[in-house]
Amino acid sequence: MNKKNIAILGSTGSVGTQALEVIECFPDHFSVSVLTIGKNADLLIQQVQRFHPKIVVVGDESAYQKVKTALKNSKTEVWFGQQALSKAVELDEIDIVLTAIVGSAGLEPTLTAIENGKDIALANKETLVVAGQLINELVAKKGVKLLPVDSEHSAIFQCLTGEESNPIEKIILTASGGPFRGKSITDLRQVKKEQALKHPNWSMGAKITIDSASLMNKGLEVIEAKWLFNLSVDQIEVVVHPQSIIHSLVQFQDGSLKGQLGIPDMKLPIQYALSYPERLQNSFARFNFMDYPTLSFEAPDLETFRNLKLAFQALRAGGNSPCVLNAANEVVVAAFLNDEIGFLTMSEVIEETLCQVKPQSKLTLEDYLYYDQHSRSVARSLIDRL
Ligand code: NAD
Ligand code: MG
Repeated sequence: MNKKNIAILGSTGSVGTQALEVIECFPDHFSVSVLTIGKNADLLIQQVQRFHPKIVVVGDESAYQKVKTALKNSKTEVWFGQQALSKAVELDEIDIVLTAIVGSAGLEPTLTAIENGKDIALANKETLVVAGQLINELVAKKGVKLLPVDSEHSAIFQCLTGEESNPIEKIILTASGGPFRGKSITDLRQVKKEQALKHPNWSMGAKITIDSASLMNKGLEVIEAKWLFNLSVDQIEVVVHPQSIIHSLVQFQDGSLKGQLGIPDMKLPIQYALSYPERLQNSFARFNFMDYPTLSFEAPDLETFRNLKLAFQALRAGGNSPCVLNAANEVVVAAFLNDEIGFLTMSEVIEETLCQVKPQSKLTLEDYLYYDQHSRSVARSLIDRL
């Protein structure tokens, strides 16, 4: 395998730091060209000292000043702001861009990276939720690879390897069910953010952890899967599997099911996306059946966890609906984390935002950006009126 130069968007986050752990294991295979972050200056400074990227980009002004001062004698260039973020992914030497930023802020730099012929290791699922069609068109036009990092989608991608000429009958996305699996609506009325932030199987950033508790994460993943694997809504099924050992499955036209299994550890799907099509030997922990004598499965409770149902509805509606759903969700999750609204209010605001924003099909990038902003203000004013 030729050595790959990597840009990581969101290097201080949960996926970003785990990606750097992977990269550190394979100095002959990977090097770091660009790191970008929001606010965590101290961690970025440490990362620069370890990985010596050519450019770092900082989104927050005071964090930028701190990084700039700390790195004044370093060869690494320090850039600031959203435009610089998109500019940095244009760097010639970059082979692959890992999009580990959170939210729809990932859309524009991802488009720029594709435009510049870079392969994408996609963790930022919101990019495909907001503008899947646009991304797919550009990926096809530029002939780049869109490699899934999300564990479920990596599982499906791995199951499809060698099956290129065999149509998919359906895929089955597994869901852990999150910390509130089995709870009733009455229980959910009382839950606090501290409980929602405790995921049973995965340690992740705050936004995706709340999305996992509300099942919106699975809803976003349904939409992500539609665009990654070119599926219709009816070909996507969700099954709750609390142990998170089967990461997802594909069912082919002969009824055969292929699944990918392993312990829940994001380092594996991150590594596979970076090393694809090769598998590199590593020393990460291995799965042992005797540690998991029972693997169990149940249907998702769509009446209690309405976000998953809303995501299916938005995908069926198409056009701008997934973009509206995502924008409203980003607003309600921030409000929930800020103790402004309760857990169940999140679904109510998302549903009402979907009702209030006019549907539109055939969207340009400007349309997506408009609906992203507009839906945020609709959701925000719904919260302010509560
Ligand atoms: P996180 O909150 O831990 O990290 C986000 C990173 O993005 C940080 O480095 C932050 O500084 C940076 N960032 C955030 N907003 C930014 C902005 N506007 N401009 C520049 N940088 C910004 O998030 P995470 O859990 O690592 O998740 C990242 C993405 O990966 C999300 O889209 C999530 O859905 C997806 N994902 C995460 C996991 C996981 O295990 N954490 C698994 C699958 C998919
Ligand atoms: Mg996932």
